[in-house]
Amino acid sequence: MPVRKIPFESRVILALAAALVPSRQRSPWQERWRSRSEAWWIYNRDLPGARIGLLREAANACPDALWRRLNRDEAPRRLHLAVGSPLFVGGVLLCVLGAIGLLSGGFRETRAMLTDQRTDNPRLVILSNHSALTGYAWGVPSSRFTAWAHYQKSLESYAAYSWAIDSKGRVLARVEPQFFRILGIPPNGCAFRFVSVRPAYSVPLDRAKLPRQLGVVGLLRPGVSVERAEHDLGVGVMPVSRLAWGTLGFYSAGLCLALSVALFRVIFDRAFWAHAAGRFRKSWRFWAFFAVKTAVAVALVAWAGIEARFGITLTTTGARDPLVLMLATWPLLLAFGGALLWSWLDQRLRCRSCNRRLDLPVHMGVIGASLFDPTGIESVCPAGHGALYEPDTEMSDAAWITLDEFFSTRR
Ligand SMILES: [Zn+2]
Repeated sequence: MPVRKIPFESRVILALAAALVPSRQRSPWQERWRSRSEAWWIYNRDLPGARIGLLREAANACPDALWRRLNRDEAPRRLHLAVGSPLFVGGVLLCVLGAIGLLSGGFRETRAMLTDQRTDNPRLVILSNHSALTGYAWGVPSSRFTAWAHYQKSLESYAAYSWAIDSKGRVLARVEPQFFRILGIPPNGCAFRFVSVRPAYSVPLDRAKLPRQLGVVGLLRPGVSVERAEHDLGVGVMPVSRLAWGTLGFYSAGLCLALSVALFRVIFDRAFWAHAAGRFRKSWRFWAFFAVKTAVAVALVAWAGIEARFGITLTTTGARDPLVLMLATWPLLLAFGGALLWSWLDQRLRCRSCNRRLDLPVHMGVIGASLFDPTGIESVCPAGHGALYEPDTEMSDAAWITLDEFFSTRR
């Protein structure tokens, strides 16, 4: 029996209903309703009122289409896919950056650092007693400071300073008159920062009422080495130009320590070796994404640390208190470790071709028969590029299975 086309009005109804159906299901859905209507028409078209009957029959497609449009299964699935996309990671990192900016009052510390007065005279030094064990700067005992006037030969000029907090909670600097000239910045009234302290204002230091410990800044005489000055003055001598490297060292040491701990997790991960196997030409996107993600995460941790000014307490010299420094090292270490670990745990279950999160973990094989036929979990790329197979037995290696050539239509 030849298939006759169904009447126009029923075709319109079916087309309208089809527009409601989500695009991925549309063509099989249309096919099913068309053949159903055609079958109805073939058997009933000679009966009286057949056209109206078919219209009523076709109208049933509308609630079905509506149901598919509103089908709740679809929304979580789409959300799931969006969360797994590499762009989502970028969004998360951007949100973290925004949170740091918001909590730090718009990157206050970073902006202050960029607008700081530069003090890059290579002869400019800070004088203080260092505890060898903690690196803590105690400052110069004021008795020694006053004695320098009689014997010291290595400094061209020097000035004492001392930080304090005023009654309104603002940081104030007590400085000797020549303090600003030695630093090479315009005196008072201008915002300056010295050893990571930015005082709100400064007042003259009273020589008659010196605190027990003083911060002292000095200019070495030309040709005098740091070692000779230390011998002459009897205190530690630290060139100001080296201070920034000290901060960098603090962060680098924390990062290296965290890196070595995180590496253990990575090299004992079978998924790492599964991803590392095979040609780099095919998986470079995977490793590039991992490297960029890790670098950005680590940079954000360091940035948050700078904005929070971990471990900076106000002592007379602006030095870090050893106890606070110790307490600050741990959160920094944990944050670095957390960022590195997150980066890998997120990466290990990503597709090697498109960096989407692998999906649909399926248990393969029969557990009872695992002796003969190894069982394991297989996670598949939602775009069908490949799958990661992780056997249940710890001894067996994981493997990346490329499905590209067989199933994928894209890339
Ligand atoms: Zn993929």
